[in-house]
Amino acid sequence: MLQLQAFKYELIPDGTRQRDMRRFAGACRFVFNKALALQQANREAGKKYIRYVEMANLLPAWKNELPWLKEAPSQALQHALKNLDRAFTNFFAKRAEFPCFKKRGYSNSFRFPQGFRLDQANSRILLPKLGWMRYRKSRDVQGELRNVTVSGDGGKWFISIQTAREVDKPVHSSSSAVGIDMGIVRFATLSNGEFIEPGNCFKQHQARLRKAQQAMSRKKKFSNNWTRARARVQKIHLQVSNARRDFLHKASTTISKNHAIVAIEDLQVNNMSRSAAGTVQAPGRKVRAKAGLNRTILDQGWTEFRRQLEYKLAWAGGQLVAVPPINTSRTCPQCEHISVHNRTSQAQFRCVRCGFEDNADLVGARNVRRAGLARIACQVNGEVSRQQQEPTEVAA
Ligand SMILES: [Zn+2]
Repeated sequence: MLQLQAFKYELIPDGTRQRDMRRFAGACRFVFNKALALQQANREAGKKYIRYVEMANLLPAWKNELPWLKEAPSQALQHALKNLDRAFTNFFAKRAEFPCFKKRGYSNSFRFPQGFRLDQANSRILLPKLGWMRYRKSRDVQGELRNVTVSGDGGKWFISIQTAREVDKPVHSSSSAVGIDMGIVRFATLSNGEFIEPGNCFKQHQARLRKAQQAMSRKKKFSNNWTRARARVQKIHLQVSNARRDFLHKASTTISKNHAIVAIEDLQVNNMSRSAAGTVQAPGRKVRAKAGLNRTILDQGWTEFRRQLEYKLAWAGGQLVAVPPINTSRTCPQCEHISVHNRTSQAQFRCVRCGFEDNADLVGARNVRRAGLARIACQVNGEVSRQQQEPTEVAA
């Protein structure tokens, strides 16, 4: 099977290179936003969507209009337009919200699909219009190089090198199957009784973040003090996302190593995290409670967790099975009686027919496991299982 993998390293740029990279990222952001504004205006006028090729054909005219765009690498600008095109594809397929404008200071990245050279022996990389740059090498890149993404975050610059390589389809070392119930109180409860406490990375840093944001808002915009305050806000954001990534990677690695088959509820995080406020005709219920729940869901990164589980299991020769979340929390594992009254509270399950009692999350996980195994049994009878592969594994 083809294994896609990304290797991420910190760059060691000098001042000139840092300025250049900021400019290139700015140009890509500008092109993305300009194209998005065009699509928006077009849409409001009831006109057809502008496809990527048509949009890319507008680039030369934009460069003549705004000569500073010419300084940025062309392929990076084209890739920014491809990104927007993908965002729209996801929006049209109802997988994502309408694309939003990229904000300065929050999206500092650009990609080279080609034209780069990697010199691993000397820990350096040649990037178009930037020249040779050294990076902190933590491990060797493996596989055929596909593309390089340069990104700035919290004052540091990184390269993420995507590779592809052909590997033998592995056989999982374990034959265990497990079901997982995702929750708020416990991030994940496994059907074998183990559980993972939530890593509320955001909560821990929330007070610090709010303080830093307030300090920033009191400063005069674009002043030196404001720039320093903004750097601090960005640094905290980076710490939050690093802590979250570590937490999710640890959890998904452990589970995918220990179990060959992992069943998980097919929760539509997109729907769950959509605004609970509702509309004027149909106002939402429990708006505040839901807003809190939504933030916790996003904070804990369920979507990302599932994505990681899926590719890590595939790499290890295992399989992730998603099951519809119908009745997983209300079915009695002993007598299979289904009732809303079986769940007496958030934490406790008590069957109204046979009296079976247990932790509600554990009951959920056991039901998810059973549904997952049933689903696999169906696959064996006919359909071939779909082993989707996701490209990003980050080795920082
Ligand atoms: Zn029962």
